[in-house]
Amino acid sequence: MESSKLILCTRCGRRQAFAQGDWIRVAEKGGPPNPPPLPPSVCLECGFKDPELREALRAWNKELGAWGEQRMQHYVRQFREMVARPLEAIDRFVDSFR
Ligand SMILES: [Zn+2]
Repeated sequence: MESSKLILCTRCGRRQAFAQGDWIRVAEKGGPPNPPPLPPSVCLECGFKDPELREALRAWNKELGAWGEQRMQHYVRQFREMVARPLEAIDRFVDSFR
C-alpha cells in the first residue's frame, strides 16, 4: 500500500494541506461527497481563518453536519476518526464566532 505524499499548508507551513485525493478515497468509502471549498495547498484551519473562504467553509461544514445526520453512525465515526484533529479545531474556531 502506498502512502500519500505529505503536503504542508502554504500559509502556516505546519499543518497538512487538504488533499483532494484523500477526500476522494473517503467519498468512495461512503464519506461525504463534497470536498471543502479550499484552494490547493491550504489546510482547513487556515481556510477558516481566511475571511474570503470562511463563509463558504461554514456552509460546507453545515452541509457536512446535515450529511452526517442522514448517514449511518458507522460512517460518521470513521470519517471523524480520519479528520479528528482538524474537525476539533474547526469546531472551536466556529464556536468562537457564535
Ligand atoms: Zn495552514
